[in-house]
Amino acid sequence: MSFALAAGGDDTDTIAMPCSSGVSKMFEPCKGHPNLTGCERRMHLNGAMTEGRGLVLIVEDEPAIADVQRLYLSEAGYGVHVERDGAAGLASIRSLRPVAVVLDVGLPTMDGIAICRALRESGDWTPIIFVTARDDEVDRVLGLELGGDDYLTKPFSPRELVARVRGILRRQDGPPTPTPLTLGLIVLDPGRRRVSVDGADVAFTSTEFDLLAKLMSAPGQVFSREQLLSSVWGHVDYGGGRTVDVHVAQVRAKLGEANPIRTVRGVGYTAES
Ligand code: CA
Repeated sequence: MSFALAAGGDDTDTIAMPCSSGVSKMFEPCKGHPNLTGCERRMHLNGAMTEGRGLVLIVEDEPAIADVQRLYLSEAGYGVHVERDGAAGLASIRSLRPVAVVLDVGLPTMDGIAICRALRESGDWTPIIFVTARDDEVDRVLGLELGGDDYLTKPFSPRELVARVRGILRRQDGPPTPTPLTLGLIVLDPGRRRVSVDGADVAFTSTEFDLLAKLMSAPGQVFSREQLLSSVWGHVDYGGGRTVDVHVAQVRAKLGEANPIRTVRGVGYTAES
């Protein structure tokens, strides 16, 4: 069972948070967690709390950041496994089969973008949340285009990270077998999470699938970028419209001539036959 990894195989795991570690620079202060600002203060993870929501794999080479991510995700009920370099991260994603990956872009041996590309090319659609530098728009867009599901820019609140992971995974907790949706030549089956065009399967990432499902759930209805962010990603944040645009472009490219998504200038998107 992968849950044994959650707290290093022990019931309690202690993380030191020295104030010289750079954590204060990388993370905004968190009101609900005053311990985070404490100097050399030690926090305990209770292994029992980490069971039940599945394993999240963190690939992050800065130990102080990885420790905070591990702490918050563990407290939110996820099992957590951390890898410090890219090649080991890719190997662990393939062997441990996590429910989601929190993927730093700048990593030793293999960067986060290359990891995402390798996974998607091999048909692995594990949800990926990229962690990028604030001013690196190129990495953000490239990451999404290669099949990333969402991104966070440093510095970010650890609570925001938990919200993003929940947002991505919440969609998979829906009703088990809703009715397939049909629009033109496209059939989208929410139960099997499959899309076909004229009978031929088309491979989608989890986020692309949910975006198309949302649009196809109400043909002709116009959804704003904010509505789509809220419904599909589980959050609305400043600048998130770009995330929607990049994913819409990916969905359109995959559907080719069968694409039903139309841009409604100044408003958002709609799907219609
Ligand atoms: Ca890094």
